[in-house]
Amino acid sequence: MKLLSDFDGVWTHPREESRAQGELVDAQLVEWSPPELRERSRAWIADARRRVLAQPDLYGWAPGGRLSCFADEDPFAEHSALLHYIHLHAGIDAIATALHEAVLEPGHESLEAFGGAAHAEAVARVERTRGPGVLKSAADAGRRMLEGGVEIVVVSNSGREKLDRWFGHAGLPHVVHPERAPGALRLRGGARKFVLDPDRSAIESFGALSVEVARPFYEGILREETPDAVVGDVFSLDLALPRVLRRTDPAWRNVRLFWLVHDYTPARMRDQIAAHVPEVEAIGDGLEGVARALLG
Ligand SMILES: [Mg+2]
Repeated sequence: MKLLSDFDGVWTHPREESRAQGELVDAQLVEWSPPELRERSRAWIADARRRVLAQPDLYGWAPGGRLSCFADEDPFAEHSALLHYIHLHAGIDAIATALHEAVLEPGHESLEAFGGAAHAEAVARVERTRGPGVLKSAADAGRRMLEGGVEIVVVSNSGREKLDRWFGHAGLPHVVHPERAPGALRLRGGARKFVLDPDRSAIESFGALSVEVARPFYEGILREETPDAVVGDVFSLDLALPRVLRRTDPAWRNVRLFWLVHDYTPARMRDQIAAHVPEVEAIGDGLEGVARALLG
């Protein structure tokens, strides 16, 4: 039994990291605005945050301008969606234009690059004060699965060093891919699940949800690993493509798809997925629920 697992939102609850990222993004955007626009920028950003959450299927994490996940799918996506909103309104709206220029000025090559840097800095800040954030309940469930013979490969957009450090802090045996060791997690960081194919688009409909599934890096890993189960907290990033493989590739017909639903999981997505994606098993108690499903 091999489980392919996401990291953030599966082994952690990202509320503190996300709060720090939001504060950092907003403070830097305001600070870098032209002085005469700072007060207006602050109000504009707050309004933009309301707008992206009101239209999460228009705004989200959108590297290169194409939507990779919705604004409301996890606590980090809202910050990316704010930058996406600025990207779409720059050249049209005076504040968006000023904010876009303000981000490029100190040397960030794009809004996306700024978002990535803010994310890394926010995670580092939280780690310095709180420490690494692997949840005890997740670590216990992971340990139980490893002891029960489940092979676990962690496939995450987070960097390898962070995964190594955080699992080490939690006392979970682990090795870095391609090394393998029985009874240890295998870590595949920097997985770039969010990267969409520049030469191809494949929009899949799940009820009212339209999700891009042309994700070449993630597809390469999924096909190489051929797991028996996949777990993630962000449907678009983690589960939409495995669900397509399950419908189209006979080798994937019995792969179980676990979706961890949390306090941040949007109700609209829970409704659509419950109604239209019967292969997805929604789990309300994190990795413990996955361990129960796999070990009985
Ligand atoms: Mg996640």
